Amino acid sequence: MKVCKFGGTSVASAEQIKKVANIVKSDPSRKIIVVSAPGKRFGEDEKVTDLLIKLAEAALNRQNVDNELENVVARYRSIAEGLGLGENISNIIEDDLRERLSTNLEDESLFTDAIKAAGEDNNAKLVAEYFNHIGLKAQYVCPKKAGLLVNNRPERVRALPEGYDRLEKLKDEPGIIVFPGFFGYTEDGTLRTFNRGGSDISGSIVAAAIRAELYENFTDVDSVFTANPTVVDQPVAIEKMTYREMRELAYAGFSVFHDEALMPAFLRSVPVCIKNTNNPEAPGTLIVRDRDHSAQPVIGIAADSGFSTLFVYKYLMNLEIGFGRCLLEILEDEEIPFEHTPSGIDNLSVIIRSKFLNEKNSERIVRRVKEELEVDDVHLRNTDYSMVVLVGEGMRHTTGLAARAASAISRTGANIEMINQGSSEVSLVFGVDKKDETKILKELYKEFFSKVVSYV
Ligand code: ASP
Repeated sequence: MKVCKFGGTSVASAEQIKKVANIVKSDPSRKIIVVSAPGKRFGEDEKVTDLLIKLAEAALNRQNVDNELENVVARYRSIAEGLGLGENISNIIEDDLRERLSTNLEDESLFTDAIKAAGEDNNAKLVAEYFNHIGLKAQYVCPKKAGLLVNNRPERVRALPEGYDRLEKLKDEPGIIVFPGFFGYTEDGTLRTFNRGGSDISGSIVAAAIRAELYENFTDVDSVFTANPTVVDQPVAIEKMTYREMRELAYAGFSVFHDEALMPAFLRSVPVCIKNTNNPEAPGTLIVRDRDHSAQPVIGIAADSGFSTLFVYKYLMNLEIGFGRCLLEILEDEEIPFEHTPSGIDNLSVIIRSKFLNEKNSERIVRRVKEELEVDDVHLRNTDYSMVVLVGEGMRHTTGLAARAASAISRTGANIEMINQGSSEVSLVFGVDKKDETKILKELYKEFFSKVVSYV
């Protein structure tokens, strides 16, 4: 039994939904179909989720919402028409949106979540209607009824494994299940959305809950590539990689699969396959627990920017018990997560995403570190650093990889500000100036992939 998730571009128009139906029809083991809200049909287009966010904002500002509402309904109407479905389903969708708009505006976050979730929820109804229309027996299932349980932390919505037993029963439902992605319900029945792109997470949860044979994640590219195709010309495709490798690449900007979506599949060892709705014959990229990494220790190169460094120096830091904890406690008080902590004997740097910093908290952090930890030097470099990440399971078994990477970077003339090899040794991270990012990526690609034809 397979779970298939179709992303925004895969369900953006009637034409795309017809492709989805053909994919589902071609394999009877494709039992549970998780859908996103309609995404972009062309470059300048707007995603339905973005239209819904505008609708929620207008409602919260107590404005007339007719235009914003019509923009959303028109998208569904044109899809329904293109699929030959008649008016009934568009009316159901419009009524649903009006009902959501009439709910209490007091809790802005709850209200916005309910409006945002309408994108996938109504799309699932529409897709189920179309499947039945063409003779594919299907039913829409609401995540509340199915038991997709989430925690009660609006700022950090996570699925709860307690919901898995109920979700598992989806296996026994007749026909094809069409399930909306992106949201679940708390124990007390409150709707909560995951963060953007979160339908991948819903698909992974359902796949884990039913212990699917495969979780197919359909998007608009043939596979995951070894490097960003907008930076490197025609990078090599990855045929097989491990969960850990995908996690590292997703962290550093590979947006093809949501970085929070791996965990449920990983915990129950459900293989994930990234496939293309527009070219379903292509094998895609398979994500599994292990791969033979002898031929290619490195699987990919990624980079993400927008990092700052908190640098701390204190003579004899190494002898001071609890120094790291006290430093991180200051960040905890400020509600700032940290990414890496490269350290020396007497110094420690904490790499932070710059989006969490502003003038006020930056000043406060530096002052507190100076006063409370009595350090000799502290400064926050709030510049735009990039983290260039080299990823591969073979890293810990191969000597000389770090040297090859460092010499490739030195050939570009760029300065390496920081090197961090996590203890898992699946990745090697180089902190560099943002302006050098592209040339470094190109040079690393040349070093590690120029001779690779296909990457299994
Ligand atoms: N529709 C949501 C978004 O645009 C979730 C998703 O597509 O996965 O972020």
